[in-house]
Amino acid sequence: MASSVQNNRVSSPGYCVCCRTCNMWCWRAFKWLPVLLIVSIITWSYYAYVIQLCIFTIESTVQQCIYLVLYHILLIMFAWSYWRTIFAEIKPIPETFKLPEAELEKLLSAETEDAQRSILDNYAKDLPIVTRTMSGSVRYCNRCVLIKPDRAHHCSICARCVLKMDHHCPWVNNCVCFFNYKFFMLFLGYALFYCIFIMATCLPYFIKFWKLVFQGDFGAAASAGRYHIVFAFFVALMFAISLGSLFGYHCYLVINNRTTLEAFRAPMFRGGADKNGFSIGAFNNFKEVFGNSPNLWLVPVFTSFGDGIVYPVPNEEEESESLLSSERWERWGERARPFDERESSSFDEL
Ligand SMILES: [Zn+2]
Ligand SMILES: [Zn+2]
Repeated sequence: MASSVQNNRVSSPGYCVCCRTCNMWCWRAFKWLPVLLIVSIITWSYYAYVIQLCIFTIESTVQQCIYLVLYHILLIMFAWSYWRTIFAEIKPIPETFKLPEAELEKLLSAETEDAQRSILDNYAKDLPIVTRTMSGSVRYCNRCVLIKPDRAHHCSICARCVLKMDHHCPWVNNCVCFFNYKFFMLFLGYALFYCIFIMATCLPYFIKFWKLVFQGDFGAAASAGRYHIVFAFFVALMFAISLGSLFGYHCYLVINNRTTLEAFRAPMFRGGADKNGFSIGAFNNFKEVFGNSPNLWLVPVFTSFGDGIVYPVPNEEEESESLLSSERWERWGERARPFDERESSSFDEL
């Protein structure tokens, strides 16, 4: 641990401030490219579907109206969820978890790992944490100089610790974490249905195109509009396959109350590693992300329980059969209320 507890203050590299600023802006612009690609594909799909299919190809007005209304509902929900995932405010770790200067000096001057460990343990004794490192000490980030709250991890791309970090997603140019996990799930779900809807409604025209090709009627098949519809079908199919598998995997994670990181490495508790350490029953796990109100489950507004810092864990003495999961929620009390509903930020409470 001695090597891991080192001062994060690094000396400035040997190039000028101007170059560093330029590099930083180039890197920031570069990180938006995947988002730009997704937005371009959505914009093109709008043209292919609305203009080429609904307006130029479909002749029945009733069919046009039904397709356009359903398409726009899906598009709005999809774009809204995507927007909220990208621009969710990732709140910093509360100040109480940061090591004060005096403690940091003590930590850096400690000579043995045991001494460092006891300094961290002593500082963390009043913090609401239950997870530990593999060696049993409190989890510490030497780059952010803080005790990591349960389920928080350091993101090397965001260059900071993030609460209930799932993974850093380049397609949303943001960390998927406590603050936007519900939005991310809805984004995957709506994007999947958007693709399935396009595939289902383009299918008859897709079949018609290939029939014309096989009949050798290339003239009728080769209009630009038909190419857009056929291409829209292929692109929707490709995205539906990848989104379907990703959405299915994240549904599994939600039901089991695991993050992607925890699925790869089980969280470590005082009693050892436990991949189900945060699981409080499938439906409660779902509610922890989507909230209590069924009316808002499918709406991209923040309804997740808690504050991202403290999570209910199954009580070891009272095994799952003897205590209903719903009762656990009640025991969790104040922290079970959604973040937005609290009168004051829980960051101030700690
Ligand atoms: Zn960190
Ligand atoms: Zn990140």
